[in-house]
Amino acid sequence: MFRIGQGIDFHQLAAGRELWLGGVHIPHTKGAVGHSDADVLLHAICDALLGALSLGDIGHHFPDTDMKYKGIDSKVLLKECYRLIEEKGYSIVNIDSTLLLQAPKIKPYVEQMREAIAGILHLSIDDISIKATTTEQLSFIGREEGVVATANVLLKKD
Ligand code: MG
Repeated sequence: MFRIGQGIDFHQLAAGRELWLGGVHIPHTKGAVGHSDADVLLHAICDALLGALSLGDIGHHFPDTDMKYKGIDSKVLLKECYRLIEEKGYSIVNIDSTLLLQAPKIKPYVEQMREAIAGILHLSIDDISIKATTTEQLSFIGREEGVVATANVLLKKD
């Protein structure tokens, strides 16, 4: 039995914040703003995993009003989402994701991101796809005011 999940996340970009994407720290003039480390890609993957099993969303499991999650490493959140789907007797077939951002170029970091995610989710990096696109200077993404990520996952019953 297979289940599909989809996730999307948005974060504002601002000077003076660190930029974490896919579990990797990326040196940049701006970083993502959020209650946690604001890793938009890991958040989209968390939501896709939760969504596949109708387990609600990341805001339900890790409320941004809870000081416990202030500044938290999103890899911890991803680990917890993995535990939840494992507990339900499912494993991950593959993940396909897309980052939408104008800058910086993330290609040099994609392999590191895939390795970080594969390690947490007990997958091969071949099961994790991370794509990226700019929006050709259009919208808040093009103005470098924000970053967006989408993710789709396929789960199978063990
Ligand atoms: Mg988020």
